[in-house]
Order: sequence, then C-alpha cells, then structure tokens
Amino acid sequence: MKCPFCGFIEDKVVDSRESREGDAIRRRRECLKCERRFTSYERIDEIPHMVIKKDGRRESFDRTKVMAGLLRACEKRPVPSAKLDAIVNTVEKYVQESPERERPTSKIGEMIMRRLKELDKVAWLPPFRGLTYESSGRNRTRAARNQAPA
Ligand SMILES: [Zn+2]
Repeated sequence: MKCPFCGFIEDKVVDSRESREGDAIRRRRECLKCERRFTSYERIDEIPHMVIKKDGRRESFDRTKVMAGLLRACEKRPVPSAKLDAIVNTVEKYVQESPERERPTSKIGEMIMRRLKELDKVAWLPPFRGLTYESSGRNRTRAARNQAPA
C-alpha cells in the first residue's frame, strides 16, 4: 500500500485487528522507506442484494429461485426458456437497482406475473397464478391448507 507520507509502495503490517463493530479489519502499517506508520481499513465490498418476504424476513436474492418458479409455472406451456431467462434478468436488475439494496418479494411476484402474462395467456392463470418468488403454486396451496384453522 502506498505510503501517504513519502509515496513508497512497500510496507509491512505491524498490527491487524477487527473493528469494534466487526465490519472492517484495521491494519497498522509501517512504510519500509520512511518507517512512518499509517492505518488501512479492509471492508467487505459486496453487500448481497436482499428480498423482504411477506413475513418480514430477509434473505439474499437468488436468481436460480426465480427461474425454478418460472419453469414450474410454465411446465406444460409453450414458453421458450430464453423468454423466461429474460424475465429473470429483468427481476435481477430490478433488485440490483434498488437504492436500499432490497426489494419486497410481493413486488417481485407482481413483476413476474405481469411479464408471464405477456408471454402466455394461460401460465399466469389460476392455479398457476400462485407463483411468487417465495413458492410455486403447488407449494403455496399446500402451505395455505396447512395454515387453515381446523
Ligand atoms: Zn514512507
């Protein structure tokens, strides 16, 4: 790391410790030329993009999950998988462009349904309409049954 005092590019790390919040590594460095000390911080660069589920829980966005749901919804429909891939890309872009780095799954679900409707008049209809980011139509029906009061 370039010395802030003399510009020399070689140094040695004399101390290395985690910040109090645990979100950064603080390194004390010593310039090999002028021997002055300076500090560098190492942080995680990539914060994952999150989705907020209906129950408020968050999980990291997973595009394979979106694709799995779409493939399930279109199982017996004449929808080319390249078109489904395009939907997944749109959804991914939507999540990545969020300034808060997170999007609700309900919005994602709406988005998927809208695109799907444009592609195929049947795939989006009930019982297929159960498709959301969270689960396939079938799983959702089962979950609803399990949650129904006895
Ligand atoms: Zn120096």
